[in-house]
Amino acid sequence: MRSYWHAKTLFVPHRLPGRITADVAVIGAGFAGLWFAHMASRRGIRVVVLDAEAPGYGASGRNGGLMTGGLALSPSDAVQQWGEALALNLYHRVVRAQQAIQEAAAQAMGVSDFKQDGCLVLPADETEWQKLKESAAWLARHGFPGGIVSGQDLPQSLKNYWPGGLVYPTDGSWQPMKLVQWLVRAIQSRGGEIYGRTAVRSIQEESGGVEVRTDQGQVAADYAVLAVNASLGRLVPALADAVVPTRGQMLVSEPVDPLPYTWAVSADWGYLYWHQRPDGRIALGGFRNLDIDGEGSDELALNPRIQEELSRWLAERIVGRPVAVDYRWAGIMGFTPDRLPLVGPWTARQLVLAGFNGHGSTNTYMAAEHLMRAMAGDEDWLAPLSPRRFSRTKGDNPCKR
Ligand SMILES: Cc1cc2nc3c(=O)[nH]c(=O)nc-3n(C[C@H](O)[C@H](O)[C@H](O)COP(=O)(O)OP(=O)(O)OC[C@H]3O[C@@H](n4cnc5c(N)ncnc54)[C@H](O)[C@@H]3O)c2cc1C
Repeated sequence: MRSYWHAKTLFVPHRLPGRITADVAVIGAGFAGLWFAHMASRRGIRVVVLDAEAPGYGASGRNGGLMTGGLALSPSDAVQQWGEALALNLYHRVVRAQQAIQEAAAQAMGVSDFKQDGCLVLPADETEWQKLKESAAWLARHGFPGGIVSGQDLPQSLKNYWPGGLVYPTDGSWQPMKLVQWLVRAIQSRGGEIYGRTAVRSIQEESGGVEVRTDQGQVAADYAVLAVNASLGRLVPALADAVVPTRGQMLVSEPVDPLPYTWAVSADWGYLYWHQRPDGRIALGGFRNLDIDGEGSDELALNPRIQEELSRWLAERIVGRPVAVDYRWAGIMGFTPDRLPLVGPWTARQLVLAGFNGHGSTNTYMAAEHLMRAMAGDEDWLAPLSPRRFSRTKGDNPCKR
């Protein structure tokens, strides 16, 4: 099952041809693996990227297309759950990441595929509305962009249902596969190698390096970077509970008249999200909350009940009339128990980049940049992101060096 974004963009590279060597073997060609390979190849590091399917075949080519600069938790919840210092540290990083990504996106795609009109977050209830107001106050206190828009300033179709919302003005929406294509080209132009239909079966550590094993061949490298999203537990069984597969449903409509707003929208605790593409189509996803158990799956399958509810929402709440749906698909997100990603060494030679909790458009860049800089010795590992926080085994923790 392919997505709307995959049409005309999915490129399946050759399989790994046998045994090769590299400085770093990157496993997984989604945003996380590709950003890391991009940054590493820019530093002259020889990278080989392996994907079980193709670049962007996973969540990076199946998402809602919202380019959001925040974290997996709202500022209000992030401060409460992670503490002020970590929330602020990560927020500064993700704002910088968003600026860098916007520069890349401007090169990777034209205006027909990249809109920066902001994202409006609409509350499900009074509790979330209060949290949005607290978040707006926190953003203002720290000089980050974002503010409350009152109900009376919303267009009628929104104010009928919501009391107001929080606007993140630097967010936007895009065709995510255009970014994937751009990253692939950039990595290859510096000699990085990318192989598709090459599932990694195991990683062996030996004589100061790793051997990454596939059915087609092996990569001998100094390090392996595991950027396989919710499949992490297959390669590292001890981390199976640390990144939990969580399915999301998406649809794209036929082109419709322009909506009375240009924001991308995230509503009702982020369980619904939509935006209008420049060609008039509406990309809408979510409603995972209607079948939490059913969507706790890594099977790429449509959920008929959720798809039906999405169609109803599209017609009744967004467009105001029946609308044809041209594309439907599902994708798999990786959720972590504390809503922080896993970034850093699992062992001295195996480094993890995973668990983006449905917020990978900018958080993958932030994580890849941190991993790259920390590996190069430019900064310390952020201990709260260490994959070892989920380790049930005792041992040397490279994050505490
Ligand atoms: C329906 C949906 C909607 C979303 N909407 C948004 C949104 O609007 N905005 C936003 O910011 N984020 C959104 N996300 C989340 C975002 O897409 C992800 O956080 C991000 O794409 C994760 O990137 P990744 O590189 O970690 O994973 P992926 O893109 O999934 O890449 C992992 C890759 O690893 C490969 N792989 C797995 N196992 C192996 C193996 N053993 N060997 C080799 N390769 C392997 C896979 O084939 C895959 O290509 C959404 C996700 C979904 C599913």
